[in-house]
Amino acid sequence: CAIASVMVGKRVRSRRRWWKVVRVLDEFEEAASTPVGRLRQVVDAMAVEMHAGLASEGGSKLKMLLTFVDNLPDGSENGIYYALHIGGTNFRLLRIQLGGQRSILSHDVERKPIPQHLMTSTSEELFDFIALSLKEFIERNGNNQARGKDLGFTFSFPVKQTSLSSGTLIKWTKGFSIEDMVEKDVVECLQKALSRRGVDMNVAALVNDSVGTLALGHFYDKDTVAAVVIGTGTNACYLERADAVIKCQGLLTTSGGMVINMEWGNFWSSHLPRTSYDIDLDAESQNPNDQGFEKMISGMYLGDIVRRVIHKMSLESDIFGPISSKLSARFVLSTPLMAAMHEDETPNLSEVAKILEETLNINDVPLKVRKLVVKICDVVTRRAARLAAAGIVGILKKIGRDGTAGITSGRVKSGKSGKMRRTAVAIEGGLYLSYRIFREYLNEAVAEILGEEIAPFVSLKVMEDGSGIGAAMLAASNSNVDTLVQV
Ligand code: BGC
Repeated sequence: CAIASVMVGKRVRSRRRWWKVVRVLDEFEEAASTPVGRLRQVVDAMAVEMHAGLASEGGSKLKMLLTFVDNLPDGSENGIYYALHIGGTNFRLLRIQLGGQRSILSHDVERKPIPQHLMTSTSEELFDFIALSLKEFIERNGNNQARGKDLGFTFSFPVKQTSLSSGTLIKWTKGFSIEDMVEKDVVECLQKALSRRGVDMNVAALVNDSVGTLALGHFYDKDTVAAVVIGTGTNACYLERADAVIKCQGLLTTSGGMVINMEWGNFWSSHLPRTSYDIDLDAESQNPNDQGFEKMISGMYLGDIVRRVIHKMSLESDIFGPISSKLSARFVLSTPLMAAMHEDETPNLSEVAKILEETLNINDVPLKVRKLVVKICDVVTRRAARLAAAGIVGILKKIGRDGTAGITSGRVKSGKSGKMRRTAVAIEGGLYLSYRIFREYLNEAVAEILGEEIAPFVSLKVMEDGSGIGAAMLAASNSNVDTLVQV
């Protein structure tokens, strides 16, 4: 009888421990929920903030930066072009040969991780490394053809551009922090490093990665009006009417439009489903109160949100065994590992067990606990993908391509002709490209928000390496075009 009551006591305690953890999960799921009604509020808030950011400098957390790109490639570009791309974790070198008629005859890309110490060193060290890498790349890929050529430079950070080929860094994001670089002209830094290394090339276009992606999207499909990057960081750009850029009265462009770099990673709205984990992540980050949208969506952060939830659970209960010290280490669980757990298709979730063991030092957890971990990954990813989807529809709303402007008595209308126009949005970035479940959630949510009448008019098109290829194309198509700005 004594043994039986000990057993019952153990079972009761174990059930209690389990319910404590389930409560943590439920609370998290509730706080992170994204029903379509809430997503529509985010859509509206995005459109409102876009207006505010265009109306005045500092009018919104969305910077809505001028890019001086007023002519997007149309497929007629010809010749050999080079580009280099400094992104989040990687650095890419590209050489493309364009053959007119929307054709890319050849395309070589080399990817290199940016050494961690260079992300926090000096501008000279970073740019010397880049110039040297470009020199070696050119030597491997036809030295003679590169001499004197125009170079597209994709720099995936917020930059205040003063022309297509000049601009100063506003601030770092994604874990970079090279103090002497802030407010410096990034093209000048690169151009100087190139001449130090004896590379005879001219930086003809300074381009944000979202803008490069839009350029490639437009090269293939003229209905491409916006582009989104969802990788280590996140951002979007779109084609705006010049007269809608109120903060820059008298902006004259040859096409009457200009690509606007939204820097949407810094978007904020009270409608965003923010949890206590987001608040802590932000407070402990290198850039508190900055990049709030990015911290809920992008690859740099998703794994860390999952880690934080598991950590909280392990403080409440011992279902993960003794508290692992690794659980307190920021960024120890990367987003690719989180995605691998989420997409584990083995019947007993052996991949989840392996990653918990190897990365977080959590051993021998039962299947039920592994399933719980997969559920946490699902909540984090679903929210991220659905918020990004709401952002995309927000852009469509701002430019009158979401169909709402013309819905009358159930019939869809948009545009002067009264017909809904076909619209393409180019997408690039490792999170979207490599994480199937994220991609599916995002695609589904865009369709859900737009509704079944409008959704068939909008397509999301993957533009792999678009950020770099597009920059090379912009160097090609804009090398002799000057955009006039009168303020
Ligand atoms: C940067 C953007 C960039 C995005 C995607 C963000 O952190 O601020 O400029 O486009 O990451 O790489």
